Amino acid sequence: MIRARISKSPLPHGHDSIAPVIDLSKTYAEQLARRASELETCCVHAGEENRHGALDTPIVQSSAFGFASAAEAAGAFSGENDAYIYGRWANPTVEALERKLTALEGAEDCAATASGMAAISGAVLSLCEAGSHIVAPRAMYAESARLLRERLPRLGITTTFVDALDPQSYARALTPATRLLYIETPNNPLLGVSDIAAIVAIAKGHRAATLADNTFATPFAQNPLALGVDLVIHSMTKALGGHGDAIGGAICGAHEAVERARDLVVKGFGGVISPFTAWLVARGLRTFALRQRQACESAATLAARLASSRHVAHVHHPSLASHVGHALASRQMHAFGSLLSFELKGSGTTSAIDAGRRVLEGVRTITHAVSLGDVRSLLTHPASTTHSTMPRQDREKAGIGDGLLRLSVGIEGTDDLWRDLEAALDASC
Ligand code: PLP
Repeated sequence: MIRARISKSPLPHGHDSIAPVIDLSKTYAEQLARRASELETCCVHAGEENRHGALDTPIVQSSAFGFASAAEAAGAFSGENDAYIYGRWANPTVEALERKLTALEGAEDCAATASGMAAISGAVLSLCEAGSHIVAPRAMYAESARLLRERLPRLGITTTFVDALDPQSYARALTPATRLLYIETPNNPLLGVSDIAAIVAIAKGHRAATLADNTFATPFAQNPLALGVDLVIHSMTKALGGHGDAIGGAICGAHEAVERARDLVVKGFGGVISPFTAWLVARGLRTFALRQRQACESAATLAARLASSRHVAHVHHPSLASHVGHALASRQMHAFGSLLSFELKGSGTTSAIDAGRRVLEGVRTITHAVSLGDVRSLLTHPASTTHSTMPRQDREKAGIGDGLLRLSVGIEGTDDLWRDLEAALDASC
Protein backbone atom coordinates (compact mmCIF):
# COMPACT_ATOMS: atom_id res chain seq x y z
CA MET A 1 0.00 0.00 0.00
CA ILE A 2 1.94 3.00 -1.25
CA ARG A 3 0.39 6.43 -1.37
CA ALA A 4 1.35 10.09 -1.37
CA ARG A 5 1.29 11.11 2.27
CA ILE A 6 0.94 14.86 1.85
CA SER A 7 -0.43 16.39 -1.33
CA LYS A 8 1.60 19.44 -2.30
CA SER A 9 -1.27 20.87 -4.37
CA PRO A 10 -4.31 19.90 -2.42
CA LEU A 11 -6.72 22.49 -3.80
CA PRO A 12 -9.38 21.19 -6.12
CA HIS A 13 -9.54 24.09 -8.59
CA GLY A 14 -6.29 26.05 -8.35
CA HIS A 15 -7.06 28.20 -5.32
CA ASP A 16 -5.16 31.47 -5.21
CA SER A 17 -5.64 33.48 -2.08
CA ILE A 18 -6.82 37.07 -2.68
CA ALA A 19 -4.71 39.92 -1.39
CA PRO A 20 -5.59 40.36 2.27
CA VAL A 21 -7.22 43.75 1.92
CA ILE A 22 -10.63 44.71 3.22
CA ASP A 23 -11.88 47.18 0.62
CA LEU A 24 -13.72 49.78 2.66
CA SER A 25 -15.51 51.10 -0.45
CA LYS A 26 -17.48 47.86 -0.70
CA THR A 27 -19.95 46.58 1.85
CA TYR A 28 -18.45 44.27 4.41
CA ALA A 29 -21.13 41.69 3.59
CA GLU A 30 -19.97 41.65 -0.06
CA GLN A 31 -16.39 41.13 0.97
CA LEU A 32 -17.24 38.33 3.36
CA ALA A 33 -19.24 36.65 0.60
CA ARG A 34 -16.23 36.93 -1.71
CA ARG A 35 -13.85 35.51 0.88
CA ALA A 36 -16.25 32.67 1.65
CA SER A 37 -16.64 31.81 -2.03
CA GLU A 38 -12.85 31.49 -2.27
CA LEU A 39 -12.72 28.86 0.44
CA GLU A 40 -16.03 27.00 0.24
CA THR A 41 -15.01 24.38 -2.37
CA CYS A 42 -11.71 23.86 -0.62
CA CYS A 43 -13.50 23.36 2.73
CA VAL A 44 -15.68 20.62 1.26
CA HIS A 45 -13.25 18.79 -1.03
CA ALA A 46 -9.61 19.49 -0.15
CA GLY A 47 -7.76 16.57 1.37
CA GLU A 48 -10.63 14.11 1.33
CA GLU A 49 -9.76 10.48 0.84
CA ASN A 50 -12.77 8.53 -0.39
CA ARG A 51 -12.21 4.80 -0.15
CA HIS A 52 -14.42 1.79 -0.72
CA GLY A 53 -16.94 4.08 -2.45
CA ALA A 54 -17.55 5.90 0.85
CA LEU A 55 -18.32 9.58 0.25
CA ASP A 56 -16.88 10.50 3.62
CA THR A 57 -13.27 9.95 4.67
CA PRO A 58 -13.42 6.85 6.88
CA ILE A 59 -12.36 6.92 10.52
CA VAL A 60 -9.41 4.54 10.48
CA GLN A 61 -9.48 3.55 14.13
CA SER A 62 -6.38 1.36 14.19
CA SER A 63 -3.29 1.60 16.34
CA ALA A 64 -1.07 -0.42 13.99
CA PHE A 65 -1.14 -1.36 10.28
CA GLY A 66 -0.38 -4.70 8.69
CA PHE A 67 2.28 -5.13 6.00
CA ALA A 68 1.72 -6.98 2.73
CA SER A 69 5.27 -8.39 2.79
CA ALA A 70 8.56 -8.29 4.69
CA ALA A 71 9.92 -6.11 1.91
CA GLU A 72 7.11 -3.60 2.37
CA ALA A 73 7.75 -3.47 6.13
CA ALA A 74 11.47 -2.93 5.59
CA GLY A 75 10.71 -0.25 2.99
CA ALA A 76 8.28 1.51 5.34
CA PHE A 77 10.97 1.75 8.02
CA SER A 78 13.71 2.81 5.63
CA GLY A 79 11.48 5.44 3.99
CA GLU A 80 11.42 3.73 0.58
CA ASN A 81 7.65 3.46 0.67
CA ASP A 82 4.84 5.28 2.45
CA ALA A 83 3.11 2.30 4.06
CA TYR A 84 1.43 3.13 7.37
CA ILE A 85 3.18 1.59 10.36
CA TYR A 86 1.78 2.82 13.65
CA GLY A 87 -0.93 5.31 14.65
CA ARG A 88 1.32 7.75 16.50
CA TRP A 89 3.40 8.13 13.35
CA ALA A 90 0.68 8.52 10.73
CA ASN A 91 -2.99 7.75 10.23
CA PRO A 92 -5.10 8.21 7.06
CA THR A 93 -7.97 10.08 8.79
CA VAL A 94 -5.53 12.45 10.47
CA GLU A 95 -3.72 13.00 7.18
CA ALA A 96 -6.99 13.89 5.44
CA LEU A 97 -7.56 16.61 8.05
CA GLU A 98 -3.96 17.79 7.68
CA ARG A 99 -4.38 18.13 3.90
CA LYS A 100 -7.55 20.19 4.33
CA LEU A 101 -5.91 22.62 6.74
CA THR A 102 -2.76 22.73 4.58
CA ALA A 103 -5.00 23.99 1.78
CA LEU A 104 -6.85 26.52 3.92
CA GLU A 105 -3.65 28.04 5.30
CA GLY A 106 -1.89 28.02 1.92
CA ALA A 107 0.83 25.90 3.56
CA GLU A 108 3.05 23.13 2.21
CA ASP A 109 2.30 20.84 5.11
CA CYS A 110 0.42 20.59 8.39
CA ALA A 111 0.82 18.44 11.50
CA ALA A 112 -2.31 17.84 13.56
CA THR A 113 -1.71 17.56 17.31
CA ALA A 114 -3.61 16.58 20.45
CA SER A 115 -4.45 20.19 21.36
CA GLY A 116 -3.55 23.77 20.59
CA MET A 117 -1.09 23.75 23.51
CA ALA A 118 0.60 20.62 22.14
CA ALA A 119 1.00 22.49 18.83
CA ILE A 120 2.40 25.60 20.54
CA SER A 121 4.84 23.82 22.85
CA GLY A 122 5.96 21.47 20.08
CA ALA A 123 6.42 24.24 17.53
CA VAL A 124 8.35 26.43 19.98
CA LEU A 125 10.61 23.56 21.06
CA SER A 126 11.25 22.61 17.43
CA LEU A 127 12.66 26.11 16.87
CA CYS A 128 14.51 26.67 20.17
CA GLU A 129 17.04 24.92 22.38
CA ALA A 130 18.74 25.56 25.73
CA GLY A 131 20.16 29.09 25.60
CA SER A 132 17.59 30.36 23.07
CA HIS A 133 15.72 33.60 23.63
CA ILE A 134 12.17 34.37 22.47
CA VAL A 135 10.37 37.69 22.02
CA ALA A 136 6.62 37.42 22.61
CA PRO A 137 3.68 39.77 23.10
CA ARG A 138 2.55 40.71 26.61
CA ALA A 139 -1.07 40.15 25.61
CA MET A 140 -1.32 36.50 24.64
CA TYR A 141 -3.29 33.38 25.54
CA ALA A 142 -2.65 32.81 29.26
CA GLU A 143 -1.41 29.20 28.98
CA SER A 144 0.99 30.14 26.16
CA ALA A 145 2.31 32.94 28.38
CA ARG A 146 2.78 30.43 31.22
CA LEU A 147 4.68 28.12 28.89
CA LEU A 148 7.10 30.92 28.03
CA ARG A 149 7.25 32.55 31.47
CA GLU A 150 7.27 29.52 33.81
CA ARG A 151 7.93 26.27 31.99
CA LEU A 152 10.53 26.96 29.29
CA PRO A 153 13.03 28.79 31.56
CA ARG A 154 13.51 25.39 33.28
CA LEU A 155 14.89 24.18 29.93
CA GLY A 156 17.11 27.24 29.54
CA ILE A 157 14.80 29.06 27.12
CA THR A 158 13.94 32.62 28.13
CA THR A 159 11.40 35.14 26.84
CA THR A 160 11.11 38.91 26.79
CA PHE A 161 7.51 40.14 26.66
CA VAL A 162 6.84 43.23 24.57
CA ASP A 163 4.05 45.48 23.31
CA ALA A 164 2.26 43.52 20.59
CA LEU A 165 1.09 46.68 18.86
CA ASP A 166 4.58 48.14 18.44
CA PRO A 167 6.87 46.14 16.10
CA GLN A 168 9.82 48.24 17.24
CA SER A 169 9.42 46.85 20.74
CA TYR A 170 10.22 43.43 19.21
CA ALA A 171 13.32 44.94 17.60
CA ARG A 172 14.46 46.50 20.88
CA ALA A 173 14.15 43.17 22.72
CA LEU A 174 16.42 41.21 20.31
CA THR A 175 19.57 39.66 21.73
CA PRO A 176 22.24 37.58 19.99
CA ALA A 177 20.41 34.52 21.39
CA THR A 178 16.99 35.42 19.96
CA ARG A 179 15.70 32.54 17.85
CA LEU A 180 11.97 33.19 17.72
CA LEU A 181 9.55 36.11 17.44
CA TYR A 182 6.10 35.00 18.60
CA ILE A 183 2.96 36.64 17.19
CA GLU A 184 -0.66 36.33 18.29
CA THR A 185 -3.05 38.63 16.43
CA PRO A 186 -5.77 39.78 16.97
CA ASN A 187 -5.07 39.34 20.64
CA ASN A 188 -7.09 38.49 23.71
CA PRO A 189 -9.31 40.12 24.92
CA LEU A 190 -8.99 43.59 23.35
CA LEU A 191 -8.50 42.41 19.75
CA GLY A 192 -5.33 44.45 19.32
CA VAL A 193 -3.74 43.93 15.90
CA SER A 194 0.01 43.29 15.43
CA ASP A 195 1.77 44.20 12.19
CA ILE A 196 2.75 40.72 10.97
CA ALA A 197 4.86 41.83 7.97
CA ALA A 198 6.81 44.33 10.09
CA ILE A 199 7.59 41.71 12.76
CA VAL A 200 8.59 39.20 10.06
CA ALA A 201 10.99 41.78 8.55
CA ILE A 202 12.61 42.32 11.97
CA ALA A 203 12.96 38.55 12.47
CA LYS A 204 14.47 37.99 9.02
CA GLY A 205 17.01 40.76 9.63
CA HIS A 206 18.08 38.86 12.74
CA ARG A 207 17.88 35.35 11.20
CA ALA A 208 15.21 34.46 13.74
CA ALA A 209 12.07 32.47 13.02
CA THR A 210 8.49 33.66 13.42
CA LEU A 211 5.49 31.75 14.71
CA ALA A 212 1.91 33.06 14.64
CA ASP A 213 -0.98 31.74 16.68
CA ASN A 214 -3.80 32.18 14.14
CA THR A 215 -6.54 30.76 16.38
CA PHE A 216 -8.44 34.04 16.87
CA ALA A 217 -8.30 35.13 13.23
CA THR A 218 -8.65 31.69 11.58
CA PRO A 219 -7.52 31.15 7.96
CA PHE A 220 -10.80 32.73 6.86
CA ALA A 221 -9.65 36.12 8.13
CA GLN A 222 -5.84 35.87 7.96
CA ASN A 223 -3.06 33.81 6.37
CA PRO A 224 0.17 34.66 8.23
CA LEU A 225 2.24 32.33 6.02
CA ALA A 226 1.45 34.60 3.05
CA LEU A 227 2.95 37.46 5.08
CA GLY A 228 6.21 35.56 5.60
CA VAL A 229 5.62 33.84 8.95
CA ASP A 230 7.46 30.50 9.30
CA LEU A 231 4.97 28.49 11.34
CA VAL A 232 1.27 29.02 11.99
CA ILE A 233 -0.31 27.21 14.88
CA HIS A 234 -3.98 26.64 15.64
CA SER A 235 -6.14 25.49 18.44
CA MET A 236 -8.49 23.45 16.22
CA THR A 237 -10.67 23.21 19.31
CA LYS A 238 -12.06 26.60 18.31
CA ALA A 239 -13.44 27.79 14.95
CA LEU A 240 -11.83 25.09 12.79
CA GLY A 241 -13.69 22.27 14.53
CA GLY A 242 -16.34 24.85 15.27
CA HIS A 243 -18.84 22.73 17.20
CA GLY A 244 -17.36 22.66 20.69
CA ASP A 245 -16.94 18.88 20.62
CA ALA A 246 -13.24 18.30 19.93
CA ILE A 247 -9.83 19.31 21.32
CA GLY A 248 -7.06 19.49 18.74
CA GLY A 249 -4.22 21.59 17.43
CA ALA A 250 -2.19 22.09 14.26
CA ILE A 251 1.16 23.36 13.03
CA CYS A 252 1.26 24.64 9.42
CA GLY A 253 4.15 25.84 7.29
CA ALA A 254 6.90 24.67 4.97
CA HIS A 255 7.30 20.90 4.76
CA GLU A 256 10.69 20.66 6.46
CA ALA A 257 9.76 22.89 9.41
CA VAL A 258 6.44 21.09 9.95
CA GLU A 259 8.13 17.70 9.71
CA ARG A 260 10.64 18.72 12.38
CA ALA A 261 7.81 19.86 14.68
CA ARG A 262 5.71 16.74 13.93
CA ASP A 263 8.66 14.47 14.68
CA LEU A 264 9.12 16.18 18.06
CA VAL A 265 5.60 16.75 19.31
CA VAL A 266 3.59 13.92 17.73
CA LYS A 267 6.11 11.11 17.42
CA GLY A 268 8.45 12.09 20.23
CA PHE A 269 6.24 13.66 22.93
CA GLY A 270 3.19 11.63 21.90
CA GLY A 271 0.88 14.61 21.38
CA VAL A 272 -1.12 12.69 18.80
CA ILE A 273 -4.71 13.53 17.81
CA SER A 274 -7.14 10.59 17.73
CA PRO A 275 -8.61 9.53 14.36
CA PHE A 276 -12.12 10.20 15.67
CA THR A 277 -11.23 13.74 16.79
CA ALA A 278 -9.52 14.36 13.44
CA TRP A 279 -12.68 13.20 11.67
CA LEU A 280 -14.83 15.53 13.80
CA VAL A 281 -12.60 18.51 13.04
CA ALA A 282 -12.53 17.68 9.31
CA ARG A 283 -16.32 17.42 9.34
CA GLY A 284 -16.49 20.82 11.05
CA LEU A 285 -14.13 22.30 8.46
CA ARG A 286 -16.52 21.48 5.61
CA THR A 287 -18.79 24.31 6.78
CA PHE A 288 -15.97 26.52 8.05
CA ALA A 289 -16.25 29.25 5.38
CA LEU A 290 -20.05 29.42 5.69
CA ARG A 291 -19.83 29.62 9.48
CA GLN A 292 -17.14 32.27 9.42
CA ARG A 293 -18.99 34.40 6.89
CA GLN A 294 -22.05 34.46 9.17
CA ALA A 295 -20.12 34.90 12.42
CA CYS A 296 -17.87 37.69 11.08
CA GLU A 297 -20.83 39.61 9.65
CA SER A 298 -22.79 39.26 12.91
CA ALA A 299 -19.76 40.33 14.96
CA ALA A 300 -19.38 43.57 12.98
CA THR A 301 -23.13 44.29 13.24
CA LEU A 302 -23.18 43.62 16.98
CA ALA A 303 -20.02 45.71 17.49
CA ALA A 304 -21.71 48.69 15.76
CA ARG A 305 -24.91 48.26 17.79
CA LEU A 306 -23.03 47.91 21.07
CA ALA A 307 -21.03 51.03 20.26
CA SER A 308 -24.24 53.04 20.34
CA SER A 309 -25.64 51.38 23.50
CA ARG A 310 -26.02 53.72 26.51
CA HIS A 311 -24.68 50.97 28.78
CA VAL A 312 -21.39 50.48 26.94
CA ALA A 313 -18.28 52.64 27.36
CA HIS A 314 -16.03 51.05 24.69
CA VAL A 315 -16.31 48.37 22.05
CA HIS A 316 -13.20 46.57 20.81
CA HIS A 317 -13.53 45.12 17.31
CA PRO A 318 -11.23 45.81 14.34
CA SER A 319 -14.26 46.56 12.12
CA LEU A 320 -14.86 49.82 14.01
CA ALA A 321 -13.09 52.91 12.67
CA SER A 322 -12.47 53.84 16.33
CA HIS A 323 -10.44 50.64 16.93
CA VAL A 324 -6.69 51.19 17.10
CA GLY A 325 -6.06 48.27 14.74
CA HIS A 326 -8.72 49.13 12.15
CA ALA A 327 -6.44 50.40 9.35
CA LEU A 328 -3.83 47.68 9.86
CA ALA A 329 -6.47 44.95 10.01
CA SER A 330 -7.93 46.28 6.76
CA ARG A 331 -4.52 45.84 5.14
CA GLN A 332 -3.48 42.46 6.48
CA MET A 333 -6.74 40.58 7.05
CA HIS A 334 -9.47 39.19 4.81
CA ALA A 335 -12.10 39.81 7.51
CA PHE A 336 -12.28 41.42 10.95
CA GLY A 337 -13.04 38.19 12.81
CA SER A 338 -15.82 36.89 15.00
CA LEU A 339 -14.61 37.98 18.44
CA LEU A 340 -15.32 41.29 20.09
CA SER A 341 -15.20 42.73 23.57
CA PHE A 342 -16.96 45.61 25.24
CA GLU A 343 -16.60 47.57 28.47
CA LEU A 344 -19.72 48.26 30.50
CA LYS A 345 -20.17 51.70 32.00
CA GLY A 346 -21.65 50.62 35.32
CA SER A 347 -23.97 53.08 37.01
CA GLY A 348 -24.36 54.90 40.32
CA THR A 349 -25.75 51.82 42.06
CA THR A 350 -24.09 49.01 40.09
CA SER A 351 -20.32 48.65 39.82
CA ALA A 352 -18.91 47.61 36.45
CA ILE A 353 -17.77 44.26 37.88
CA ASP A 354 -21.28 43.50 39.18
CA ALA A 355 -22.82 44.68 35.92
CA GLY A 356 -20.47 42.31 34.06
CA ARG A 357 -21.51 39.36 36.22
CA ARG A 358 -25.18 40.23 35.86
CA VAL A 359 -25.00 40.45 32.07
CA LEU A 360 -23.41 36.98 32.05
CA GLU A 361 -26.26 35.65 34.14
CA GLY A 362 -28.86 37.59 32.16
CA VAL A 363 -28.18 36.27 28.66
CA ARG A 364 -30.38 33.42 27.42
CA THR A 365 -29.40 32.63 23.81
CA ILE A 366 -25.75 33.43 24.43
CA THR A 367 -23.88 30.90 26.59
CA HIS A 368 -21.66 31.84 29.52
CA ALA A 369 -18.56 29.72 28.83
CA VAL A 370 -14.89 30.05 28.02
CA SER A 371 -13.60 28.95 24.59
CA LEU A 372 -14.41 30.62 21.30
CA GLY A 373 -15.15 29.95 17.65
CA ASP A 374 -18.11 27.74 18.47
CA VAL A 375 -21.39 27.67 16.52
CA ARG A 376 -22.90 28.94 19.79
CA SER A 377 -22.12 32.48 20.90
CA LEU A 378 -20.00 32.41 24.06
CA LEU A 379 -19.61 35.22 26.58
CA THR A 380 -16.89 35.58 29.22
CA HIS A 381 -16.03 38.12 31.91
CA PRO A 382 -12.22 38.28 32.08
CA ALA A 383 -12.06 40.26 35.37
CA SER A 384 -13.86 37.54 37.34
CA THR A 385 -12.54 34.51 35.41
CA THR A 386 -9.62 34.24 32.98
CA HIS A 387 -7.81 37.37 34.25
CA SER A 388 -8.95 37.21 37.90
CA THR A 389 -5.48 36.26 39.20
CA MET A 390 -3.92 39.31 37.53
CA PRO A 391 -3.54 42.20 40.02
CA ARG A 392 -6.34 44.71 39.37
CA GLN A 393 -3.89 47.54 38.66
CA ASP A 394 -1.98 45.48 36.06
CA ARG A 395 -5.24 44.32 34.52
CA GLU A 396 -6.56 47.86 34.18
CA LYS A 397 -3.21 49.07 32.84
CA ALA A 398 -3.55 46.40 30.14
CA GLY A 399 -7.00 47.84 29.31
CA ILE A 400 -8.95 44.94 30.83
CA GLY A 401 -11.42 46.75 33.03
CA ASP A 402 -13.84 45.34 35.61
CA GLY A 403 -16.74 45.65 33.20
CA LEU A 404 -15.10 44.08 30.16
CA LEU A 405 -17.01 41.24 28.48
CA ARG A 406 -15.67 39.12 25.60
CA LEU A 407 -18.10 37.75 23.08
CA SER A 408 -17.28 34.99 20.61
CA VAL A 409 -20.03 35.38 18.04
CA GLY A 410 -21.59 32.15 16.78
CA ILE A 411 -23.93 31.49 13.89
CA GLU A 412 -27.27 32.19 15.54
CA GLY A 413 -29.45 34.88 13.97
CA THR A 414 -27.85 38.31 14.42
CA ASP A 415 -31.10 39.91 15.59
CA ASP A 416 -31.70 37.16 18.13
CA LEU A 417 -28.23 37.75 19.54
CA TRP A 418 -28.79 41.48 19.67
CA ARG A 419 -32.16 41.13 21.43
CA ASP A 420 -30.51 38.82 23.98
CA LEU A 421 -27.66 41.23 24.64
CA GLU A 422 -29.91 44.28 24.76
CA ALA A 423 -32.28 42.67 27.26
CA ALA A 424 -29.38 41.52 29.50
CA LEU A 425 -27.77 44.96 29.36
CA ASP A 426 -31.04 46.76 30.18
CA ALA A 427 -31.68 44.45 33.12
CA SER A 428 -28.14 44.51 34.52
CA CYS A 429 -26.66 47.97 34.13
N1 PLP B 1 -4.23 29.72 21.44
C1 PLP B 1 -5.28 30.48 21.73
C2 PLP B 1 -5.36 31.86 21.16
C3 PLP B 1 -6.30 30.01 22.56
O1 PLP B 1 -7.35 30.80 22.86
C4 PLP B 1 -6.19 28.69 23.09
C5 PLP B 1 -7.22 28.13 23.99
O2 PLP B 1 -8.14 28.82 24.41
C6 PLP B 1 -5.06 27.93 22.77
C7 PLP B 1 -4.11 28.47 21.93
C8 PLP B 1 -4.88 26.53 23.32
O3 PLP B 1 -5.66 25.63 22.64
P1 PLP B 1 -6.15 24.21 23.24
O4 PLP B 1 -7.13 24.53 24.32
O5 PLP B 1 -6.74 23.52 22.07
O6 PLP B 1 -4.95 23.54 23.77
